[in-house]
Amino acid sequence: MMTLKSIFSKIRDLTSEDKELITQAHQVATEAHKGQKRYSGEPYMSHVLDVAFKLADMGMGAKTIAAGILHDSIEDSSISSDDIQTQFGDEVLFLVEGVTKLGSVRYYGSDRHNESLRKLFVATSRDIRVLIIKLVDRLHNMQTLEYVPVQKQQRIARETLEIYVAVAHRLGMGRIRKELEDLAFPYVYPKEYEQVLKLTKPIRKRSEEELEKARKSLQKGLAEAGLRDFHTYSRVKGLYSLFQKLKRRDWDMDRIHDFLAIRVVVDSVEECYRTLGIIHEIWRPMPGRVKDYIAFPKPNGYRSIHTTVITPNRTILEIQIRTEEMHHDAEYGIASHVIYKDEQQGTKASESENQTWFGSLIPSLFRPFAWRESTHEKKKPELLVKEPHKSRIPQWIQEIGDTEHDGAGAFVDELKQDFFTHRIFVFTPEGDVVDLPVGAYPLDFAYAIHSEIGDGTSGAKVNSKLVSLDTELKNGDIVEITTQKNAHPTQKWLDFAKTSLARRRIRTYLTTKKNS
Ligand code: MN
Repeated sequence: MMTLKSIFSKIRDLTSEDKELITQAHQVATEAHKGQKRYSGEPYMSHVLDVAFKLADMGMGAKTIAAGILHDSIEDSSISSDDIQTQFGDEVLFLVEGVTKLGSVRYYGSDRHNESLRKLFVATSRDIRVLIIKLVDRLHNMQTLEYVPVQKQQRIARETLEIYVAVAHRLGMGRIRKELEDLAFPYVYPKEYEQVLKLTKPIRKRSEEELEKARKSLQKGLAEAGLRDFHTYSRVKGLYSLFQKLKRRDWDMDRIHDFLAIRVVVDSVEECYRTLGIIHEIWRPMPGRVKDYIAFPKPNGYRSIHTTVITPNRTILEIQIRTEEMHHDAEYGIASHVIYKDEQQGTKASESENQTWFGSLIPSLFRPFAWRESTHEKKKPELLVKEPHKSRIPQWIQEIGDTEHDGAGAFVDELKQDFFTHRIFVFTPEGDVVDLPVGAYPLDFAYAIHSEIGDGTSGAKVNSKLVSLDTELKNGDIVEITTQKNAHPTQKWLDFAKTSLARRRIRTYLTTKKNS
C-alpha cells in the first residue's frame, strides 16, 4: 500500500501547507473508509492512496492530490459535502464532487452510468483537474479489474476503451492512454488479444534484446557525433495499438514498422533536427518515413520527429526525437499544462472566443521558422507552485458541459459519436486549429472563427485552391475564407452548414432581415 511518505516524495517543492492538507485528507479518508475493502481484499484506502500517488507522480498540486485521496469519501461513507467544505475549502470540495459518481440517489442499469458521465463532463468543463483525477481513478480500477466480479469486468473494460481512452487521447495523455488500452484489451477483445499474443510471442524476446543493443549503439553514435545532453529510452509497441495497426495491415507483422521504437530526448528543437541527421548517418533510413510533427504537430498537440531505420542486423526501428518539454507533453498531455505556465500565452494579444485548446497549444503551427525561434528560448517553462484556479479547458469539453440534453442515453451517444469518432481538425492559414464535426463545410469553419466572418463569406480556399461552399472539409485541411462587405447569408446557405452554431447564426440573420 502507498504511504503518505511515498506521495510526498513525488511532490516538487513540497511546502508545509501541502503536507498538512494531504495529511488531513488522509485522516478524513481513513475514517470514511474504515472497515471497507476492495474486491481484492485490500483495505479501501489502498485505492485512494494509489490514485493520490499517481496524481503526485504526474506533477499535480496538493489540492488535486488531497481531492484524489477524498474522491470516494462522499459516495461511500457518512462524510458529507459540508464536512469537506469546512475542512478543505470550496476548491477541494468542487473537485471531489466532480469526481463523485452520484450523490445519494441510486440508479441501476446504464442510465445511472450515463448520468454520472454527464455530471463528470459538466464538472470537467469548469475544471480540467476533475477529469484528470477521474482518469487516474479509472486507471487504478483497471489495474485491479481481475478481482472484480466477471459480469462487471466486461462493461467496465468496454467503457474504458470507448470513453476514457478516447478522452485521454484527445487530451494528448499518451502514457495513461496506452496503459488503459492494454489493460482493457484482453477483456473487450479476448480472441483478438490471443491472436496478437501469438503473433508477437515468438519474436518478443529477441526483439527486446535487439532493441537494447540498438539503443546502446545509438547512444554511442550520438556521443561520438558530439551530442552532449541527451537521453534514450526504448519501448515495444503496446498490444492494443499493435492490434489496431494489424487490422489495417492484413495481420502481417512484416508491414509493422514501429513495433520497436527508441526515443531520443535532447535539449532543443535545433538539436532534434541535428539528431535526425546523425541517426541517418549511423543507420539507413527507410525512404518516405520521416515525419516532422514538430513543424506539423498532430491535432492533439503531439510533437516529435519520427524516422524509421534499418540496423545492420536488419532490425527495423522507429526513432522518435523530441525535446524534454515535448516528451513531457506527449506523456502527460493537458495534465502538464495544468501546472506549467506557457510563457507564450502571456504575450499573445487576445484570445478569440472560438480559439480551441488545441490551437492555443500549438500557436506556431505552419508558421515558417517557428522552430528556429524557439531554439533561442533557453528558459524552461516556469513551474507554478500554486495551482491555477482556472485551467485551460478544451472547447469540446465546454460544449458538452454547456449543452442541455434530452436524456442521458442521447447524451452518451452524442458524446461518443460527435466528439470522439466524428470530429475533424482543420487549420487557419495562421495555423490555429478549428475542431469541427465530420462533413462540415467552409461556412461552418467561417462561423467558428467569428460570426462576422461567417455572415460576410464570399468564397473559400482549401489548401490554397478555390472551392465552392458545398465542399466538405477533411481532416488537416487549411481553410481560408474570403469576405466581402456586401456578401450576406441566404436561404441556400442552410444546405451548406452543418454545425448548430452556423445554422443558428444564418437563421438569425435571415429572420432579422425579414423583419427589418
Ligand atoms: Mn475510486
